[in-house]
Formats: sequence, C-alpha cells, structure tokens
Amino acid sequence: MKVLVVGTGYVGLVTGVCLASFGHDVVCVDQDQQKITMLNMGECPIYEDGLEPLLQEQLLEHRLWFDTKISDCADFDIALIAVGTPPRSDGSADLTSVFEVVTELGNKLKQGALIGTKSTVPVGTAHSIETYLETMGRRDIRVVSIPEFLREGSALSDTLQPSRLIFGVPDDESLRVLKQLHSPLDVPIVACNRSTAEMIKYASNAFLATKISFINEIANICERVGADVQLVSQGMGLDPRIGSSFLRAGLGYGGSCFPKDTRALVNIAGDVAYDFKLLKAVVEVNQRQRTEPIERLRQWFGDLNNLRVTLLGVAFKPGTNDIRESPALEIGERLRDHGAQVQFYDPVVTRFWLQKQESVRVMDDPYVALQNSDAAIVVTEWPEIVELDWIRVGTIMRGRFVFDGRNVLDPVALERAGFVLENFGFHPAP
Ligand code: NAD
Repeated sequence: MKVLVVGTGYVGLVTGVCLASFGHDVVCVDQDQQKITMLNMGECPIYEDGLEPLLQEQLLEHRLWFDTKISDCADFDIALIAVGTPPRSDGSADLTSVFEVVTELGNKLKQGALIGTKSTVPVGTAHSIETYLETMGRRDIRVVSIPEFLREGSALSDTLQPSRLIFGVPDDESLRVLKQLHSPLDVPIVACNRSTAEMIKYASNAFLATKISFINEIANICERVGADVQLVSQGMGLDPRIGSSFLRAGLGYGGSCFPKDTRALVNIAGDVAYDFKLLKAVVEVNQRQRTEPIERLRQWFGDLNNLRVTLLGVAFKPGTNDIRESPALEIGERLRDHGAQVQFYDPVVTRFWLQKQESVRVMDDPYVALQNSDAAIVVTEWPEIVELDWIRVGTIMRGRFVFDGRNVLDPVALERAGFVLENFGFHPAP
C-alpha cells in the first residue's frame, strides 16, 4: 500500500518506519525542516531504542521517504495524521494542526482515499473531519480513527508487537483497508465506531493515570501509619485482577500524554455537562505529588534560599529524551522561586537539547552535576542514576540530603555513604 504519514514526532516517525518495515511504501511529512534533513540522512531526531537502525534499513530499501511538503498525493491509499494535539489553557485539545493537515489532504488526496487519525483527538473529531471534508466537496474520503498506544522508551516494540489494534471505522471497506495495512500483525483487533475508538484512547490513559494517583495516595497514608507502600504495591499487584503495572508510588506522571489527556477528558465530559469527579481528583493528586520534595526540603533545611539542589533526571521517564511536562523542570522552577540554585543531570536529553530552556543547564555527568550540592532529588529512574556510586557522591556533595522521588535507591548504600534518604511511602530501614 502507499501510505502518507503527516507529523514525524514520536508517533508519526515510529509508525512510518514500522509500516515501511511491513513492506508498504511510506512518505513521512513534517513541517520541521531540521527534522526532515536529519531523517533523510538516516539520523533519528528522538531517542528511541532500535529506531535509528530500522530507519536506516528502510531508507536503504527505498520504502521510506521524508519531505517537508505534501507534494504529490495522487497515489496514496491512506493518509495518517500524527501531528501534535497540545492542550489549550482550559485543558481542551488544540486541533489547529490536525485541521490544517485535513485541509491540505482534502485538496490533494485521490478519490476514495482514507484519512486516519493517529493523534489523540477528542471524541467526535473523526465525525467533525468528515463534515469538514464534505464542505470541501470531498464526500468520497473516508475518515477512520486508529488511536495510538505506544509508550515512549519502548515505542518500536509496542508498534511491532502491540497488545491490540483499535479500528474506529464508518464501514466494512475501511476496516478491510486497515486490516491490510496492519496485515503482518497477529494481535486482537477491536473494530468499533469512531467515537468509541476515540474514547478507548482517552479512557485507557485516564485509567493508567488513575492507578498512579491511587498508589500515590496510598503511599501518603502508608507514611503516616508506618506501612511500606512498596510491599503494598507488590501485594496488590500479584492479584491478576489488579496487576502490578502503574502501581509504583513516586512523583506522579508526566510527559506529553497523561497530563494533557486527563485534562482533555475532564473537558470532554464537561462539554456534555458531566462532572468527572474521579479524574479531576487524579489530576489534583498528581499535581500535589510533584511539589512534595520541595516540602521535604523545607522541613529539613528550613530556608531554601541559596541552597544548592541537584535534580537527577530530566526526561519524564527513562528510555526517552522527551521533556514535555517533565517533573524535573517544574520542580526546578519552583525551587528557583524559593531562591535555590538548581543543577540538572540527565544521561540522554543533553544530546537532543534544542536550546528551548536557556535558563536550564543540563549536565551529562552526574558527578559534575552533584558537585557541592546540599541536596539531591531523584526524578527519573535512569539506570545511571539508580547505580550511582554513593560513596563517591559523598566525597563531592556539600550536604547529605537525598529525596528519592522514584523509590529506586538502595537505602543500605546510601546509609553506608552517610546520607539521609527520604522517599514516598516508606521509611528506609537498612
Ligand atoms: P510530537 O510533537 O513529537 O510530533 C508532532 C509532529 O508534528 C512534530 O514533528 C511537528 O513538527 C509536526 N507537525 C505539526 N503540525 C504539522 C503540520 N501542519 N504539518 C506537518 N507536520 C506538522 O508529537 P507526538 O508525541 O508524536 O504526538 C502526536 C500525537 O499522538 C498527539 O496527539 C499525542 O497525544 C498522540 N500520542 C502520543 C504518544 C506519545 O507517547 N508521544 C502516544 C500515543 C499518542
């Protein structure tokens, strides 16, 4: 099949590369010239395990092309939209880029082609796109919803071996095309109407975010009653009805999806006069959790003015360079508001740093970043951070306070090195 993918970010790029590896002819388009230049040279603009070699392989096989413009659309059977849908100030999803792309596709796609939304879009968007295309005189184009469930950090394996495919379709012919597009994948398919597909995406992210905020609430109670949240998680997670994933207490969720999608679903509910109380609480708990390390520092040090604090980890989770809604950047900003001096370490983001945060200097050597610090906060559980040599850290830090925002450090190693360790939901007892 001939496939067009518009938007070559985390979703579009991985989708395009994988569809090419299935044997399709794929053209990926992005308005970002710098990205397209890199991609045409076989360089991956994002950090994602295994992506660059597969990208290079598909370029060499002449199954994958990159361009800044949707130039010649005559041939495409399907166009997938994978542009960003960032939050507006009221939490609703901004669909400006989606409709810009639809306008262009409406002017250029061949008769009877399909448009599929990979971007996370509010329930009803596929129908709105269809209505919009009709105003352009394009009743022939069918619109489908193919929500994306890949996780940054394991995006390639998630796309090559997904847990399920959700196809929101208006008719049987569209379903047939989507099955053909994904034919190498032998996984469960849920075929449904388009609003249902759009809701499955939001409901899935909202549910996972709820699990995270739930265990964080339990952690906060554990601390007060002398229970250990790590063992509570283990004990709960072994119940197959509950499962162990997304049940680790910590600083809460970040990244480009959960924060935006939870707020967007609250907004979608509000639009139909439904007060989604549970999800509002999930969002609130997550926000409170992020500020907790600052409270602990204030309890320990009193005044934070001129305190030197090193934040360990800037990516919102290990395995990615993505810093959107990074807890580290938010905590850093709040610490600076209190007069603290903040330094950052991350093993990966420095390679992809795009000079967006001029005020933030991220170092790629943890021992340099920790030099002369009074306190350290673990924000991302990169292996490089979990396995730090705390005896060595003890020789370079000025203070001895460590807050483990991901509950990953070895209390024995820290105590041996003379550190005071605090964390979420249990009292480390070596
Ligand atoms: P991203 O910001 O990494 O990529 C979006 C790309 O679209 C950018 O490269 C941008 O330059 C390009 N773009 C924007 N407008 C364009 C236009 N008019 N023409 C051409 N290119 C344009 O975003 P992402 O993380 O890949 O997310 C894309 C969508 O997928 C979002 O709706 C997101 O919620 C959803 N999603 C993301 C993930 C994830 O883990 N990142 C997972 C599932 C779903």
